[in-house]
Amino acid sequence: MNSKKIKLKQNVELGQLTTLGIGGKAKYLFLVKNSAELSRLLKKIGNQFYILGNGSNLLIKDILIKKPVIKLTDEFGLIKQKGNLLEVGSSTLLSFLVKYCIEHHLEGIENLAGIPATIGGMLSSAASSFGTNIFDCLEEVEVIDRKGSIYRLKKDEINYGYRYSSLRDLIIVKGYFNFSKEGKKIKEKIKNIVKKRIALQDFSFPSCGSVFKNPASLAAGALVEQAGLSGKQKGDVKISNKHANFILNLGRGSYSQADYLIKHVKEVIYQREGIILEEEVKRWS
Ligand SMILES: Cc1cc2nc3c(=O)[nH]c(=O)nc-3n(C[C@H](O)[C@H](O)[C@H](O)COP(=O)(O)OP(=O)(O)OC[C@H]3O[C@@H](n4cnc5c(N)ncnc54)[C@H](O)[C@@H]3O)c2cc1C
Repeated sequence: MNSKKIKLKQNVELGQLTTLGIGGKAKYLFLVKNSAELSRLLKKIGNQFYILGNGSNLLIKDILIKKPVIKLTDEFGLIKQKGNLLEVGSSTLLSFLVKYCIEHHLEGIENLAGIPATIGGMLSSAASSFGTNIFDCLEEVEVIDRKGSIYRLKKDEINYGYRYSSLRDLIIVKGYFNFSKEGKKIKEKIKNIVKKRIALQDFSFPSCGSVFKNPASLAAGALVEQAGLSGKQKGDVKISNKHANFILNLGRGSYSQADYLIKHVKEVIYQREGIILEEEVKRWS
């Protein structure tokens, strides 16, 4: 295959590729179909680039983003099954995997249902909810390093913890998951988890999920709420009244408005509690 065939789009609105809906244009957006193409591309463009998953934890500056952005497509979205072992491409949406698990009665990821993410994005940031981490059922991953070398890592070769994984410096190609065969109740469990998520999180306007990591044994959202910052607004960006760790884009929200609110929250929490809130959201500039 010739490297010229790698699909390239120019001046693409990145905000539209994120759940928050904020961000400037990507000067170069590469749409890469498989790992051989990706490996070749990386050898060509060097190690300064961004990988875009489903854009559900990104805050992108509204300027021209000059670093190449890579989006994984086609073969990266495949699921293959051998018994209970699932090989899941990194650009597979969690919603697609959840549907697959319902259809095949596979148990293990119910508590994550409703997170609007790709499997690669989730492994990169060790996504978790309601006591389940994306790593819980993981056996192994296939990755590509920033120089284009492809290799596998077993779970015990990966460091991960709360919203941290050593995979974040690599490009995740696929994950191998071992789900257990379950009876027939998985659909009902997922329905309940999604209900619980809708009750707790704020889906009324576009968001990027939690903006801050929870400090040890505390909830960042509760700290923001106790500081009286719920509902605080700057332009079209607002701290959610329902879940104070979410910021919402009411329509025409901008990066600078989001940045202002995030800095303001950090300042107030530091003054009140002496706690430096760490950002969970990833910024691109
Ligand atoms: C409504 C809502 C609810 C949410 N609820 C939760 C929740 O309950 N728990 C939770 O943990 N998070 C939650 N999130 C946050 C978000 O969904 C997660 O952080 C998720 O892991 C991001 O995945 P993504 O595919 O959207 O990645 P992106 O946002 O596109 O990228 C996030 C990071 O992952 C990297 N990345 C993406 N794909 C790859 C890859 N293949 N290889 C290497 N790096 C990659 C990106 O470069 C970036 O650094 C929520 C978000 C929203 C909007």
